[in-house]
Amino acid sequence: MKRAKRLAQVADYPFARWAERVDAARQQGLDVIRLDIGNPDLPPPDAVIDALCQAANEPSHHGYAGYRGLPALREAVASYYERRFGVTLDPTCQVVPLLGSKEGIINLSLACLDPEDLVLVPDPGYAPYAAGAVLAGATVYQMPLLAERGFLPDLRAIPDTVARRAVMMWLNYPNNPTAGTVGLEFLAEAVAFARRHGILLCHDAPYCDLAYNGYSPPSILQVPGAVETVVEFNSLSKTFSMAGWRAGMAVGHSGALKLLAQVKSNIDSGMFLPLQNAATVALATPPTWIAHRNQIYKQRLDVVLSGLERLGLEVPAVRASPYVWTRVPDSLTSETFARRLLEKSGVALAPGSFFGPGGEGYVRISLTAPTERVQTAISRLASWPAWAGAS
Ligand code: PLP
Repeated sequence: MKRAKRLAQVADYPFARWAERVDAARQQGLDVIRLDIGNPDLPPPDAVIDALCQAANEPSHHGYAGYRGLPALREAVASYYERRFGVTLDPTCQVVPLLGSKEGIINLSLACLDPEDLVLVPDPGYAPYAAGAVLAGATVYQMPLLAERGFLPDLRAIPDTVARRAVMMWLNYPNNPTAGTVGLEFLAEAVAFARRHGILLCHDAPYCDLAYNGYSPPSILQVPGAVETVVEFNSLSKTFSMAGWRAGMAVGHSGALKLLAQVKSNIDSGMFLPLQNAATVALATPPTWIAHRNQIYKQRLDVVLSGLERLGLEVPAVRASPYVWTRVPDSLTSETFARRLLEKSGVALAPGSFFGPGGEGYVRISLTAPTERVQTAISRLASWPAWAGAS
């Protein structure tokens, strides 16, 4: 069978390949603790499940749902942005519901990019930013995210020739995989950069409600005038522990969103109506539910950070996200390190290299497993000699 040329340039999703190793470790009898993927283990709010069940019992809710999303869902997204960030959105043209933000990221790339175009992506970064560009035939320019810069790209280091050719730029804060966070000042600098060069700035913010110690991650749309050059992606996957439901949204620049909706109308046929009802309920979840859930993540974070400290490793400051990004010993690649750790101790961590060349030398530890399992994982790490000298 012929394979499309474009597929030669996008490797299999690295976590799909890695999942086979995890299965193999299980088949060998290991009790595997998965701290490799950001798959929330905690349940969504009860009211969301009730809304889904109730709506699923309605016989008229099982047909095609239409392409644009229910007005009630788009209004719920706008109300969430108003309440959470003080950002006013027009639900008729500045909100597009998504079947999870990942499809929106890829489909916006297909909507906006041609083969001669250049896309600025963070390195390390969430793989679909680059994959979307490559599937559209465009070229990727990697912006290094370095620890010494707080994992913010150096916009001044981007050559003028590159900035002039760039059509899109991706940012993601709170950041996956580095857990880097951002203030409005940097986001304002990025908006100014994008405006100066006529770039569509895409900010991906699925972790904006997963934060600790009173930190409240901003939306890039809080930057005055950002809506003229920005699309922000957001998701119910992490905020409301609904990763398998596939519900997210793109908000902001109405022209770009119109193009995204055009691509989507050719690819998907809308979101299951009961899911739209449940997502509408989720978006009105009281902040107390989120605060309580974040306390649970914080306990796990403390277990991991104190474990790393006991091992004599560098302990990063983590203000948000369910991730800890830490260095592996210089003598091993991140994938070899993670593979050996998995095979010897049953603890699965994500190799930093899965997030791009800039992730080499790191592993990502995810806090999305029950606290006692995180504790067990940390004890197993402590008895594994390869960590020695990793700092
Ligand atoms: N963006 C980032 C940075 C992510 O880490 C993830 C999922 O892990 C997504 C987007 C995709 O989220 P969704 O479940 O909404 O597709």
